[in-house]
Amino acid sequence: MGNIVIKLPDGSSKELPSKSTGFDLAASIGARLAKDSIAVVIDGEQRDLSDILPNKAEVSIITKGSDEGLEIMRHTLAAQVLALAVKNLYPDAKLAIGPTIDDGFYYDFFMNKPISSDDLPKIEDEMKKIIKSKSNITKTYHSKKEALEVFDGLDEGFKAEIITDSGQKNDFQLYTQDETGFIDLCRGPHLPNLDMCGEFKLTKVAGAYWRGDSTKPMLTRIYGTAWNTKKELEAYLNQLAEAEKRDHRKLGKEMRLFHFQDEAPGMVFWHPSGWTIYSELQNYVRKMQRNAEYQEINTPQVVDRKLWEKSGHWDKYRENMFITEIDEEHANEKRVNALKPMNCPCHVQVYNQDIKSYRDLPYRLAEFGSCHRYEPSGTMHGLMRVRGFTQDDGHIFCTEDQIESETSLFIDLLSNIYSDLGFNTFKIKLSTRPEVRVGTDKVWDKAEKSLKKAIENLKLPYEIDEGDGAFYGPKLDFVLTDALGRDWQCGTWQLDFNLPERLEASYVGKDGNKHIPVMMHRAILGSFERFIGILIENYGGNLPLWLAPNQVVLATITDDAKEYAQSISDELNEQGIRCLLDLRNEKISYKVREHSVSKNPIILALGKKEVEDKTVSVRRLGSEKTETIELNKFIKSIKQEVKTPLQK
Ligand code: ZN
Repeated sequence: MGNIVIKLPDGSSKELPSKSTGFDLAASIGARLAKDSIAVVIDGEQRDLSDILPNKAEVSIITKGSDEGLEIMRHTLAAQVLALAVKNLYPDAKLAIGPTIDDGFYYDFFMNKPISSDDLPKIEDEMKKIIKSKSNITKTYHSKKEALEVFDGLDEGFKAEIITDSGQKNDFQLYTQDETGFIDLCRGPHLPNLDMCGEFKLTKVAGAYWRGDSTKPMLTRIYGTAWNTKKELEAYLNQLAEAEKRDHRKLGKEMRLFHFQDEAPGMVFWHPSGWTIYSELQNYVRKMQRNAEYQEINTPQVVDRKLWEKSGHWDKYRENMFITEIDEEHANEKRVNALKPMNCPCHVQVYNQDIKSYRDLPYRLAEFGSCHRYEPSGTMHGLMRVRGFTQDDGHIFCTEDQIESETSLFIDLLSNIYSDLGFNTFKIKLSTRPEVRVGTDKVWDKAEKSLKKAIENLKLPYEIDEGDGAFYGPKLDFVLTDALGRDWQCGTWQLDFNLPERLEASYVGKDGNKHIPVMMHRAILGSFERFIGILIENYGGNLPLWLAPNQVVLATITDDAKEYAQSISDELNEQGIRCLLDLRNEKISYKVREHSVSKNPIILALGKKEVEDKTVSVRRLGSEKTETIELNKFIKSIKQEVKTPLQK
């Protein structure tokens, strides 16, 4: 028996007896590593520790605590622990699949009687028992015939179907727990021993179809999360609970901002309070864009298919478009229109209305463009994913030489808007040329370089997504991070070498010849609907005063204060401060509770004493304290407080 040579990640080599495994490699390096090893990466592919290392392979060891190790642990928890726990408790259950997902895992089972989240603690207890068995997990290889025999014998039809449908003939991997005898089919790798499982919690139960096919019976999907330490698990569960508390759908109801109904799926019915937030945000963006020298326009929502054919949307995007048909009067022809899914082609129409010269560029157009896109009903999610939405859209027509300066101006505007709205950091992602594309390499070189230079001049960090650009140009994506540390991609800056040519946009250059302008598509918020959802969750409903639907609530304690409350309300209204008068004959504690639930930022409690002293008792959202101040002083200070970021 000869030796083999293994290349390690640090560039060094190691000689081992032939037929050595990942276990042997780890042990040869050190006892501590041997204890922490979970799996190996052989020539870029994750494998089990028990796999025999081929000669001259590049091998690295995955240890407990690493990201890859965490992923493998989650996978083992699903496929080996949760699966067995459910089989132990519900012997009729059939195993489907159990992959990992962000933060955890799930497993799909076919169950005769569906279970609910009330059953999860019982399943968790069973999982803990299984982990306590400290069973080794052993992998064996089998032919298709052998593997099928095993799962036919176990009456696991889904597993048999996976084996039958795979093109593979041999090398089916079966993982067996030594202590419990549980067998599963899997691509692996798995933990070598159940003792290496970390901290976990089952989070929810949902329905799912086998292979997403709705003609097949419904399966029960059990979700879980898993982490290396108890502390990490608790932090994650806290964050989950916090996110649930801040869910914009829940707060939207409590704050009476909007609703949805079946007659218009994915389209928002904005209520007075919600529409106030929307309008204030829009007014603010409008002013910022005006200061940045955009011209605001508005274009039709229902547009003939001819334009969509010309722009290419009819071909590429029709599945997502709402189509309307109309019998034109005195015409034999039906006219086919589409609700615009985007504003770009319409903006080119505005640009094309007169002859442009290089002196007219950059030509910046903005529209609060109402768009409709058909999204499958299963993908809709409150305000975050809708079918009808309004983009803070804009298009800039410019020369290639202006790409860099326009990019700088855009990022500047975007970062000011984000920070005014409470988001001080954002990430930038640059997507570069894909394999299939329009435009010459020279144009792409110049465009990509201009984007990079603009970001670098602003001293902002960015990531590059090689090859992820659209076929018509490179782009920048802007991702902001909310108070819970979650990322939201909102802003976008997309260069387009295609549409201006397709729609015959041009300008007369210095040389007197016709040229095609570069077109930039851009948005900062993305859509008002989704951005308001993000704002609500970021602030937990406690919005900055300038965006709050009711800035001040005037709540009377006794009837004696009615007149006083009315006079304060009149004065505040005159100052442009939005107030809500609550003169109801209810206890003040009841009123305060109600207005706190709907997240009104400032409540003034007004009773006999306040009338006599010409004062107000101020209660701020989130504070238990009441502060009594002179009415005049309050009015003076509130006038400052309600100012928008632009007025401050
Ligand atoms: Zn566009």
